[in-house]
Amino acid sequence: MHSSNLLAKIIEHVGSQNKPSLVVFDLDSTLFNVSPRLEKILLDFANEPKHQKMFPDSIEVLKNIRMLRQDWGIKQALVRAGLDHHHPDFHHAIREYWEKCFFSNGYLKYDLPYEGAVEYVQTLHKLGADIAYLTGRDVARMGVGSLESLKQWDFPIIDGRAELILKPLKGMDDAEFKKDWLAAIPLGKYSKIWFFENEPLNVNKVKDHLEHIEIVFFKSTHSGKAEPHEDIPQIMHYLLSEEN
Ligand SMILES: [Mg+2]
Repeated sequence: MHSSNLLAKIIEHVGSQNKPSLVVFDLDSTLFNVSPRLEKILLDFANEPKHQKMFPDSIEVLKNIRMLRQDWGIKQALVRAGLDHHHPDFHHAIREYWEKCFFSNGYLKYDLPYEGAVEYVQTLHKLGADIAYLTGRDVARMGVGSLESLKQWDFPIIDGRAELILKPLKGMDDAEFKKDWLAAIPLGKYSKIWFFENEPLNVNKVKDHLEHIEIVFFKSTHSGKAEPHEDIPQIMHYLLSEEN
């Protein structure tokens, strides 16, 4: 099924039932393209005088680096630009810098919603669906920034109707956390529950444990640790018309 057909089918269900539905969205690489966040981190790394002194040649290459939709983290983009493993000190320094910045409130404002994402979530919400943003980000490092970024782009945020759910602790396993949160919703509370997610480990976990949840795999980028089960529908964007 094409992305638009599936998206329209969900809207039709949400709008035609008396009982509300719940639509659950992951954030990173599901609603938000994180490539601009990654590019900004690499650029800030390149602009620090300390790094320019330590890695003059690599920094020149870094200034023109571009992320692609399918890039997971920064490694592929670095290698593509020629910054391969002949530069271990550089890789170590940039990895540390990336980790500190990527999982922090300050850089979330650079994320960009995927095409049609804001309008699609708004439409579902207006039609009466409850919305949940269920993310592997944790409260301490990314709670404030996540809320600000949702508001910045006009994603609905309303107590009890459209809520942000983050991991209480950073070390928790993403797939277990999401499965447990979904499992705690009382059966029968909603007409249907949809779960939009880009990480195969997470969709497969939910698929294996919670038969009543409808899963939509968002095809962007992922860890590469698994592939989504074949019978899980996939989408590429949030546009209701493919021509847009
Ligand atoms: Mg994700």
